[in-house]
Amino acid sequence: MPELPEVETTLRGIAPHLAGQRIKDVIIRHPQLRWPVPAELPRLLRGQTIRALRRRAKYLLLEFEHGTLLLHLGMSGSLRILPAGTPATQHDHFDLVLASGKLLRLRDPRRFGAVLWHEGDTDEPPQGVRRGVPRRVAATLSQHPLLKNLGPEPLQKDFDAEHLYRATRKRSAAIKLVIMDNRVVVGVGNIYANEALFRAGIRPTLAANKLSRPRCAKLVETIKQVLKEAIQQGGSTLRDFVHSDGSSGYFQQHYFVYGRTGEPCHKCGTPIKQIKQGQRSSFYCPQCQK
Ligand SMILES: [Zn+2]
Repeated sequence: MPELPEVETTLRGIAPHLAGQRIKDVIIRHPQLRWPVPAELPRLLRGQTIRALRRRAKYLLLEFEHGTLLLHLGMSGSLRILPAGTPATQHDHFDLVLASGKLLRLRDPRRFGAVLWHEGDTDEPPQGVRRGVPRRVAATLSQHPLLKNLGPEPLQKDFDAEHLYRATRKRSAAIKLVIMDNRVVVGVGNIYANEALFRAGIRPTLAANKLSRPRCAKLVETIKQVLKEAIQQGGSTLRDFVHSDGSSGYFQQHYFVYGRTGEPCHKCGTPIKQIKQGQRSSFYCPQCQK
């Protein structure tokens, strides 16, 4: 599954090809993704210019003057920049054809990805007025049903020790489940939760509200660290992840605990344990993580 680092890598790969580009055409080959791809997209986007691209959690946001296109890669999606006219194969469900002679193509064999349109302002404008026109509050992107309950971005400043400390005080659930909860912080998938907890010396099963302030600070630091490293390495988890430039190579990360059941801990040699938490596998060193 593409995790936050893959989505960020994808954004960085495609953005230079898309920013400032005019849409020549929109091709919907298979509208049945996680939700139906809006049939009116070609009419809405032809002739419009992509003003900017952003990421929020694992959503890629393509901003236009009159609204935002939300893309999600789901379980198996990937985006590539290709020359216009490149023949589509079975799982190529959606193309944005650009005036530059290139296209952005969504490939998604399992079809859990999403292509959605949000009409209206892209962000909170100052003072509730933009270019003299009163705005409709309901149309702000941050209030979109898929975005409005999301916690802070893990790599931004508002995800800090104080935030995690406050978010965990009334939670007796296991700390691993809490950091994987999008309302607490977005984009901490299973691999990164396991690795961050190991580096912080925290056992995944520890009740969240038992975490001291210094340990919250340590965990915030290691979450940022593992995500930054993965982004630097260009994303890691999807076997057939295809980079946006079309190359298929992906970097196999070095993990401390993830997938290493029974193997010796890199720090102390104790065999790594594996348990189930919320349907997902957790890996930890019983010696190093308390
Ligand atoms: Zn150990």
